[in-house]
Amino acid sequence: MVGKTTRPWLAGTYFTIAAMALLLCLAATAAASTGGAPTAAGSPPPPGSPSGTPASDAPSAGALRLISAQTTPRKSFYYGFRYPKLSFSIASSQAQNDIRIDVVDVAGASVRTFFRNDVAPEAETAIRWDGTTNDGRAAPNGRYTFQISSQAGALAARPATSSEASSLGFAFYGYAFPLLGDHDYGGSGAVFGAGRSGHTHQGHDVMAECGVPIIAARGGTVQYSGYHSAAGNYVVIDGKGTTFDFMYAHLAEPSPLKTGDTVRTAQPIGIVGDTGSATACHLHFEIWTAPGWYEGGSPVDPLPYLEKWDRYS
Ligand SMILES: [Zn+2]
Repeated sequence: MVGKTTRPWLAGTYFTIAAMALLLCLAATAAASTGGAPTAAGSPPPPGSPSGTPASDAPSAGALRLISAQTTPRKSFYYGFRYPKLSFSIASSQAQNDIRIDVVDVAGASVRTFFRNDVAPEAETAIRWDGTTNDGRAAPNGRYTFQISSQAGALAARPATSSEASSLGFAFYGYAFPLLGDHDYGGSGAVFGAGRSGHTHQGHDVMAECGVPIIAARGGTVQYSGYHSAAGNYVVIDGKGTTFDFMYAHLAEPSPLKTGDTVRTAQPIGIVGDTGSATACHLHFEIWTAPGWYEGGSPVDPLPYLEKWDRYS
């Protein structure tokens, strides 16, 4: 929150163009690392697979062995561009096999189960997990793996010599850190509750250079995208599968997102700027509790959340 850097108008224009090019470039990089394309707002990922039901008769499977299995992408977000997908095929002593696929956390607990009946040997099966648990909630952050077994409980044997045998793990996160670039958490004036003329600070100021790409910490629906004399260009996102709303302010340019758009977790939503009432380039970030931003909710200190997301991003 030091003095504003003065730029000649022309240099500022070039800077903005370069920043937008950088945004597109980094967006592509971010999308690649999260297994998705930097698609326009609202472009939905392929849906999650249905759970299926157990075999109604006595479940039956032969001695199962995985002959191929892989998971992509290795890092993904709840309500992100792409869901974790398992593709596999089995060898079996039977022609038809009632199998189950579990999403298992690091403690060995199954958070989601899929049933597939009468699976033939060497037929490719794909399971795409939408990040929800068996009771429909967003799964917590963590590392998971897919586990394939018969419905009677026997794990499918993995080929001892295959590198695929150990390649089914992936990381899954509920939230993305909202900046794709160097940043710091500012001084005493940057914190939640800091004094401002006539009010207190309702968010945290994450200091970063103008032009650093901003991505959605959590996807959902754009509740508002517009301009305010204090907030500058700003966006409010009603988070999917959470009671929180998220507000991003002082964007250098109006966000490409429009009010009502669907936005995915980690989707680019703008670039860092200093529009509105700002004395340096930064992202002003707010988190609001239910029922939401200026809908009766309250702002909470976002710093502990930001620091947590920052550690794995
Ligand atoms: Zn602020």
